[in-house]
Amino acid sequence: MMIYLDYNATTPLCDAAREAMLPYLKEKFGNPSSVHAAGREARAAIDNARDKIAALLHTKPGEIIFTSGATESCNLGLLGLARSRSAGGLPAVASAKPGHIISNKAEHHAVLHAVEHLENREGFEVTWLNVSKDGMVDLDQLADSIRPDTKLVSIMTANNETGVIQPMREISRICRERGVLLHSDIVQAFGKLDIDVSLVDAGSFAAHKFYGPKGTGFLFLRSGLPIQPIMFGGAHENQRRPGTENVAGVAGMAAAAEWVLSDADEERQRQMQLRDDFWTRIAKILPDAQQNGDPAHRLANTLNVSFIGVDSETMLMALDLEGVCASSGSACMVGSVRASHVLLAMGLPMESARSAIRFSLGRRTTAEEIANAADALEQIAKRTKDAREYAVA
Ligand code: PLP
Repeated sequence: MMIYLDYNATTPLCDAAREAMLPYLKEKFGNPSSVHAAGREARAAIDNARDKIAALLHTKPGEIIFTSGATESCNLGLLGLARSRSAGGLPAVASAKPGHIISNKAEHHAVLHAVEHLENREGFEVTWLNVSKDGMVDLDQLADSIRPDTKLVSIMTANNETGVIQPMREISRICRERGVLLHSDIVQAFGKLDIDVSLVDAGSFAAHKFYGPKGTGFLFLRSGLPIQPIMFGGAHENQRRPGTENVAGVAGMAAAAEWVLSDADEERQRQMQLRDDFWTRIAKILPDAQQNGDPAHRLANTLNVSFIGVDSETMLMALDLEGVCASSGSACMVGSVRASHVLLAMGLPMESARSAIRFSLGRRTTAEEIANAADALEQIAKRTKDAREYAVA
């Protein structure tokens, strides 16, 4: 028996997505750039998917750029916008001072490392905003950090590790008042929160976080914004992202987007109840356990807990042996024993950061699974306690 509580890492493909993809993995194999009938069939799939996603987000089809996922979307949004707005439209070579960017210390590496690249290799100055102990961005610091040469602000809508939701409406207002572009990593929020992309100028999405296929995503880019491509080749995606489109992936992503939004409110309530029930059980079994992240501004499916005294890797392995899949931070960090940069940015003591486990629930999570996962934790806690007593004796 496997209990999958790692939906923030990835989600299973929904039936709607699989069905939408199958024709393009079988008989409808044309290249969307070909002018013949097979190509036109594939082009229609891309066009339909773009129309569907744009309608779901209340945007225009031309504002959706298909990519290979959120990492690419964040890179395109950040590098593409920063470079096109830097002096002369070129990276650092054009000018000693290409400009200023604001982001926050608790971003996913897809943003963090792209902004660090602009800072370390392309001469941009970066202000890294602090987050509070609850994981919230400091809005006063944001407003105070904006300068005449600020080109771009990037703040994630919801954090992948803690589920903490940022006040995007306020952030957007501050940026708009000062005429600064805003990108948001919306990856974890789509399908879990009501998203208003009109608040941002650019937003990054990944299909596999909302029951679509892996390796497919999109960047929302508000019309009229010039962006420099970050890869070079064909004229695909209106000259903004070259390369033959992932036709099946894009078709699956659109179907998944429609499916996940169809009953998002009910699912949010259901998962929140299960998540809160899980926490109640954990707190009873392990009174020392600490919840991380603002409980009032948090994704309904996410629970980040520090089990003080047991390091994350040991706990993850013990959970895995009991059949429970969880995570110790962002999935990209698996295998690494470094404490989460997100929790450290929140000012958590090292022992709390090093003992944190992220549980994330999803569509297939049941009350029975939550009860069984809590039982597994009880067994682990008992074994750990016995081992400690044995060691002391
Ligand atoms: N941003 C956030 C918040 C994420 O959770 C992830 C994936 O974990 C990404 C970006 C990167 O997504 P992908 O690995 O699909 O490119």
